[in-house]
Amino acid sequence: MMPAGMSYDALHQLYDAISQRWTVRLLQSLPEDGTPAAGSCYLRHDIDVDPLQALELAQIESQRGIVATYHVLANGPIYHPSAPWVCSAISSIIDLGHEIGLHVDARALTHHLGSRDSLEATAGLASFVRGHAAVLEEVLGNRIRSVSFHRPTLGSLWKDAFVGGLANAYGSGFKHHYISDSSGRWRVGDPIAFLGASKPSYFQVLTHPMWWSEAGLAVEDSIRALFPRVAPKVGIDDPALFFSLVQEAIGVPIPAKA
Ligand SMILES: [Zn+2]
Repeated sequence: MMPAGMSYDALHQLYDAISQRWTVRLLQSLPEDGTPAAGSCYLRHDIDVDPLQALELAQIESQRGIVATYHVLANGPIYHPSAPWVCSAISSIIDLGHEIGLHVDARALTHHLGSRDSLEATAGLASFVRGHAAVLEEVLGNRIRSVSFHRPTLGSLWKDAFVGGLANAYGSGFKHHYISDSSGRWRVGDPIAFLGASKPSYFQVLTHPMWWSEAGLAVEDSIRALFPRVAPKVGIDDPALFFSLVQEAIGVPIPAKA
């Protein structure tokens, strides 16, 4: 059983459980045939709001000898990858040996392509992904080799293993081999109990750094804690404006008061 809450202690226990049975691999190592390697845990973190909190997690993982895949949101409402404070945090994550991949919101595109046939939609999606990856590559001076969709629509889940040449976190190989802490809770319940019972040959685990902290804050408190940490970095002093952008970024109802 994991301790209650999303504390770093709980995360360490999850990593202990994973390390006993699976090898942690980067998404960029996905085999060319698109079938995830047996015995692997593909560990991914989506940076929706706060790159500095992601760096804290990257340091914790590095101290215990784990490297993970961090996906940087290229077209989100809160931070831009080219902002110096973001660039600096991401460069530090790279220096610790982790992979940086592309996290991108494709909802506008899939809406636009909604009436077209699926082949055209796929071709449009590939160039959309390549274009955003190129921007990240330009900013970071680093090759981008994997992609995940931010707030994916049902239509973008469990499709091609590679999109625009990048390993797709939502490729069909990960269907039924995927656990996530989206919205600040594990949909599978206790992930250690789940993995212990189902013993998947391989799987992907997604966590969002914003839900995790030393103290293991509740969801509402994790969201409130973003304001003093991130708002000054992005030059916003109005809590209402900030939390409306956070709500847009994460799709979770925001507490009324800062
Ligand atoms: Zn996201």
